[in-house]
Amino acid sequence: MRAEKYDVLILGGGNAGMGVTVATRAAGMSVAVIEPRELGGTCPNRGCTPKKVLVAAGHALHEIERARVHGIVVGEPRLDWAALIDREKQMISHIPGSLGRLMADRGVEVIRGEATFASPHSARIGDRLIEAKHIVIATGSKPRMLPISGANYMITSDEILSERVLPREVVFVGGGVIAAELGHVYARAGARVTILEALPRLLPGIDADAVARLRTESERIGIVVKTDVTVKRIAAHGSRFRVTFAHDGVEHEIAADRVVNGAGRVANVDTLNLDAARVRHRGGRIETDDYLRSASNPAVHVCGDVLSTSPQLSPIATYEGRIVGRNIVEGPVAKPDYMSIPSCVYTVPALASVGSTEAKARELGRTIKAHVNDMGDWLSTRTYNESVAWAKVIVDEATDRILGAHIVGHAGEELIHLFAFAMKFGITAGQMRDTVCAFPTFAADVKHLV
Ligand SMILES: Cc1cc2nc3c(=O)[nH]c(=O)nc-3n(C[C@H](O)[C@H](O)[C@H](O)COP(=O)(O)OP(=O)(O)OC[C@H]3O[C@@H](n4cnc5c(N)ncnc54)[C@H](O)[C@@H]3O)c2cc1C
Repeated sequence: MRAEKYDVLILGGGNAGMGVTVATRAAGMSVAVIEPRELGGTCPNRGCTPKKVLVAAGHALHEIERARVHGIVVGEPRLDWAALIDREKQMISHIPGSLGRLMADRGVEVIRGEATFASPHSARIGDRLIEAKHIVIATGSKPRMLPISGANYMITSDEILSERVLPREVVFVGGGVIAAELGHVYARAGARVTILEALPRLLPGIDADAVARLRTESERIGIVVKTDVTVKRIAAHGSRFRVTFAHDGVEHEIAADRVVNGAGRVANVDTLNLDAARVRHRGGRIETDDYLRSASNPAVHVCGDVLSTSPQLSPIATYEGRIVGRNIVEGPVAKPDYMSIPSCVYTVPALASVGSTEAKARELGRTIKAHVNDMGDWLSTRTYNESVAWAKVIVDEATDRILGAHIVGHAGEELIHLFAFAMKFGITAGQMRDTVCAFPTFAADVKHLV
C-alpha cells in the first residue's frame, strides 16, 4: 500500500485536535484531521454546550422556585422534557457543519474514519495509510468502565442529553462533575435523584468546604447523596433496575428507571495500537514530556482529554492543542501552565474554582490566609434571594498574591474570572480591594472576599 504524506496528522477533530490546526496551518504545513464522528467532538455535540442548555432550564426553574419572595405568584412549573431536548438538539445542530467550513477555509483536510497507528510515523484509516512527520493523539475520553455486575445497564451523559422522556427515579453511580450537574437538572425537573459515591466526599480535587456547601444545596433540592458506599450490582427488573450497594457493612437496594455512570472519564486510547507507534503507556495513560510529546516517541504529540496529567475541560483541550501546534512549528518551546485556568461545576447555583485548594496550598507549605465568607446575609445575596452564597479565597501572606478562589453561588461562574485575571497577571489581594466597582453588583463584593 502506498502511503499518503502530510506534515501533520491529527487523530481526533475535537477542541484539542482543532487547536493544533491554528499554528500548523498558519506556518503553511499540510495538515489532516481524522474524525469518525461529528466535527467538534464532545464539547459542542455531547458535552458542555448541550449540557448548558439543560442547565439553563434548571436555572429558570430555580428562579421560579425563588420568585415568591419578589411578590411574584407563579403556579407549579412543569418542564416539557421532550421540548427541552428538542431545543438542545436544535441549538447545536449547525455546529459540526460550521466547523467543517472553518477547517476547509483553514486548508485542513478532514478525513472520515477511525485511525490506528501502523508505525511510529504512520496511521491507517480504513484502507488508507497516512505517513506524517508529526502525529497528534487528540482522541478524547470515554466513560470509565466499572467492574460491577450489571454495569452494562448503565447509561452515560450521551443518553441523558438525547432521551426525550424524563425518568422518574435516577441513580448516579459515582459523584463526579457529570453526576452533580445533570443530577441538579433532573432533580429540578422533578426526578428523584440519588448519587452513590465510593469516596468519603463528592468531587474529589475541588476544595472540600466548597463541595460541602454544594452538597447541602443538592440535598436541599431533594438529591439523596450517599458517600463511602460500594455499589455491588445492578439488576434489570422489566424496564426498571435495582442497584445494590453496601454502606457501613450493610447491603441496601434502590430502584430506578435509569442508572447513570457518573464515575468520570478515562483516556480514549484502547484501539489506537500505541505499541506500533512506540508510544509508551501504562494503564491507558500515555507518558509525556513537559512539551506534551510522547516520552518515547517525540514525533507523537498528545493533547486534550486523552492526556491524563491535566483536567478534562474544553478550554484546556483547546489550550493544549494550541501548545502542541506551536511546538510542532517552532520545536519544543511551550509548556502548559494550568494554575490560573478557572473551572466550574454547573450545578444551580454553580461551584466555581481557580488555583489551589486550601488543602493543597497548605500541603505545599505556603503561609496562607484563607478568607472564608458566607455571604448569606449580604444585601446582594438577599436582593436576589440566593439559596447559597459562599466563597473562600486563599492568599499568600508573604506576597499578597491570590493562590486560589472557590465560590458557590453569587454569580461565581462569572466572578471567578476576576480571580483568574488576578492570578495570571499578579494582581494582589490589596490591589483587588483598591479597585472601585460599580454598585450594586456581585463583582463589588469581591473586595470584601479578600
Ligand atoms: C456531559 C459532558 C459535559 C461537559 N461539560 C463541560 C463543561 O461544561 N465545560 C468544560 O470545560 N468541559 C466540559 N466537558 C469536557 C469537555 O467536553 C472535554 O474536555 C473536551 O471536549 C475534550 O476535547 P478533546 O478534543 O480532548 O476530546 P473530544 O472532544 O472528545 O474529541 C476527541 C475526538 O476524537 C475522535 N476519535 C476517537 N477515536 C479516534 C480515532 N481512533 N481516530 C480518529 N478520531 C478518533 C472522537 O470521535 C472525538 O470527536 C464535558 C464533558 C461531558 C462528557
